[in-house]
Amino acid sequence: MADSPALARQLEEDLWVLDTLFQGEPGVIASYLLTGPAGPALVDVGSGASLETLLAAIRASGHDPAEVKHLLITHVHLDHAGAAGGLLPHMPQATVYVHRIGAPHLIDPSKLLKSAERIYGDQMETLWGHMEPVPAERLVILDDNSEVTVGERTFSALYTPGHAVHHVAFYDQRRAAIFTGDIAGVRLEGVDYVRPPTPPPDLDLEAWTASTERLDTLRARAFYLPHFGPVYNTADHMAQLRERLYAWGDLMRAGIRAGKNDHALAADLAMASDPDIAQMVVNRTPEAITSAVRRYEVASNYLMSAQGYMRYYTKLHPEALA
Ligand SMILES: [Zn+2]
Repeated sequence: MADSPALARQLEEDLWVLDTLFQGEPGVIASYLLTGPAGPALVDVGSGASLETLLAAIRASGHDPAEVKHLLITHVHLDHAGAAGGLLPHMPQATVYVHRIGAPHLIDPSKLLKSAERIYGDQMETLWGHMEPVPAERLVILDDNSEVTVGERTFSALYTPGHAVHHVAFYDQRRAAIFTGDIAGVRLEGVDYVRPPTPPPDLDLEAWTASTERLDTLRARAFYLPHFGPVYNTADHMAQLRERLYAWGDLMRAGIRAGKNDHALAADLAMASDPDIAQMVVNRTPEAITSAVRRYEVASNYLMSAQGYMRYYTKLHPEALA
């Protein structure tokens, strides 16, 4: 029997993980749906290309998209915020929350789209669909420790740069849980492997480390990852992420010093990392391993990661390349 992939999975009484089926792949880009007396809220909304799937996922959870009141955005990358503007006509009551530095890019996405075009070329439309602007009057600007009140629940926006300079994580103190955005990395379900998503232009290992250490001090019971799903071994998870951020950094620095280009550096990352992913697939059938390697690449590809490190070392640590 061919089951279609589940669009909505209930994690707690008032919390669902929604699968946007990015590029047809299950378990790569999530959105989280919270419900309560103040109306539903979403944390991150995925690509503009999967907007209809997200609406279907909300309905599959038993809720009406038109009732959604809050869109909490961890950062304005296209796989997290791409659908925000396009959703608003379907969600006439919704307010969008985003960090101050990211806000101008939601109001006018043209600069964001132009730099994405340089990377994705004619793949833009397929991957990201249309990124519609968010009217300024529907935005609430967040700073570090801004509180977002959703009904009886209060989230603290924790400014957490390193992956993106405008990144926040949303801390739900009552639940002892953090909606981490990408600062907690990529860990797909059924695999115990944490991949650092390290795209240009904002990668900053020192800032990233400080952000993860800040989250560590909260001793969260759960991380809710956009890529993908809940993580409960939060301390081990962060330790693995930090270790790999620096291990990749050493590998990339050596490659850059040897004069390798971004494609050669990406090949180095794949050679070093794919065997580790294969080792850490829980159900180690050949199909599961192939699928895991492919889906990690869809969630955060090696070429972009290599380019992130190139920019990081060139811009922030030229002495390390001397
Ligand atoms: Zn992401």
